[in-house]
Amino acid sequence: MEQLLGEEISQCKKLKIKRSEKVEIPECERKTAPGVITERSCAFYGARWILAPIEDAVHIVHGMPSCAYYGRTVRKKNYTLFSTDLREKDVIMGGAKKLYETILQAVNHVEAAKAVFVYITCVPGVTGEDLSLVCKKAESEINMPVVLVNCPGFSGVSQAAGQDIAIGVLFKHFIGNSTANESHNSYAEKSVNLLGEFNVQGDLDQIEGLLARLGINVICAFSGKASIDSIARGNKAKLNIVHCRRTGYKLAQAMKDKFNIPFIKLAFIGLNETADSLRKLSEYFDISRERVEALISEEMDKAKKEAAQYLEILNGKKAAVFFGASRMGSVTKALKEMGMEVVMVGSQFGCSEDYKEAACQANEGAVIIDDASEKELEALLMATEPDILLGGMKEKYMAHKLGIPFMVFPQEFSAFAGFSGFVNMAREAAGLISAPVWKMVKNRYRSNSIDKGVREKVRIAVASKSGIEVDQHFGKAEQFMIFDVSGDERELIEIRKASAVEDSCEAVKNSLQCRLDLIQDCNVIVCVKAGKCVHDKMQSDNKRLIEAQGDVISVLKMLSETAD
Ligand code: SF4
Repeated sequence: MEQLLGEEISQCKKLKIKRSEKVEIPECERKTAPGVITERSCAFYGARWILAPIEDAVHIVHGMPSCAYYGRTVRKKNYTLFSTDLREKDVIMGGAKKLYETILQAVNHVEAAKAVFVYITCVPGVTGEDLSLVCKKAESEINMPVVLVNCPGFSGVSQAAGQDIAIGVLFKHFIGNSTANESHNSYAEKSVNLLGEFNVQGDLDQIEGLLARLGINVICAFSGKASIDSIARGNKAKLNIVHCRRTGYKLAQAMKDKFNIPFIKLAFIGLNETADSLRKLSEYFDISRERVEALISEEMDKAKKEAAQYLEILNGKKAAVFFGASRMGSVTKALKEMGMEVVMVGSQFGCSEDYKEAACQANEGAVIIDDASEKELEALLMATEPDILLGGMKEKYMAHKLGIPFMVFPQEFSAFAGFSGFVNMAREAAGLISAPVWKMVKNRYRSNSIDKGVREKVRIAVASKSGIEVDQHFGKAEQFMIFDVSGDERELIEIRKASAVEDSCEAVKNSLQCRLDLIQDCNVIVCVKAGKCVHDKMQSDNKRLIEAQGDVISVLKMLSETAD
């Protein structure tokens, strides 16, 4: 593996190769080296990742319109966003007035708005203008909280910093501020919050559905399905479930300290993880063993039956994983459940626990990588040769250009959480891997792997006296260059000399047979010309005879390409 990756990549500290049971994790949460084009996003985008789904709030980006454009789409969904459209004059003279006016205008465009988030981007982050007074003034004018989200792009090494900032804002300004009636149904004995659950393509509906069958009620999903009110009621939960470690742990710890709510790390990706999570929850809430086991066995059997046809396709296939952060471990586990090998696991901003979990699940020899650049990812994919890459949108076209099926995660079409999510995930992966298009696409590494595996080596005899050109007739060839050719690779095995040809008919006949004997282990002959009897003999032996001229390498290349 080290040889395939080259010294520069294989020896960098952010990469580890899994050896036997020893779990080594890459150095992570460090700054990207200057000059490297990282796949990470900025802190502002991290804050958007958390806050964007809160639809009863007004979201204002204080900065250039380009930041607003960047922050508008989160998990492939477009959200309403306002920009203060800062210009040169505002940068020099201050943008406070513009922000104040934008707040007053924007609230009129969001029906039933209950709060305003003001995102501070790089330019106001650099000018350092104090905008808290503006927010206070607007707050008394519009009679709702106006909160600064101080997340200039440079405020951390990755989007993770912005996620922490946004979580801090929710905790400081909203959680526990509910004035709703305490007897509300949401405050039932068995009530939970889901921390770090983003309800991608209905993931939350799957989880909520399973919990509801155990009588467990979700108060707030931070932040896939969160309103200002449900966030405020979050302190009423009896348990916090940390779904995404990266965004959930800090909030869980803060809520434990302030509201005394215990927390537990669970995952609902994959059959076994989902089943284990349900068992842990039922234990915590003292739900009968029979009830949870009945639910698990019903759902598990159904899912296994539905997934069987897809697992047949996926069995033994190799997967590479590179996306956000903390779902690495759960997704790796689910892929293994599908019978796949996981040969690469990486993320843009994972923490050590994320890597530890993922490394434990990955296969022997798998590469574990933090913050890979596009160039590094390409080298890793070429070296690990996966049948599919699971990654964010940024990696999609790179994978396609390499000829690798690509599955976007977080997913695009259906829920991946829970038992039926497992079936959806298997269906999508199997469909992508077996799509006919991949047979027509030249795979930059698979041309080698097919040659090594599925496609057989072809032995070719080339009639060449010069050793450079195809320059001899078969019957008079003085020597044959013998090549083993496999896809784009070719190896000159040896040069075989033929005896000189005498002028009698019998001698010519003998010489043809001698030459055929000399190269009888070859499947293809390349020469300038050959007589009918040689053509016939090759045809009857089910071999190919190619009449060609030109330099040997070009002819062999042409043969490989036409063989594709
Ligand atoms: S890095 Fe700064 S300027 Fe760029 S999008 Fe993020 S906040 Fe805006």
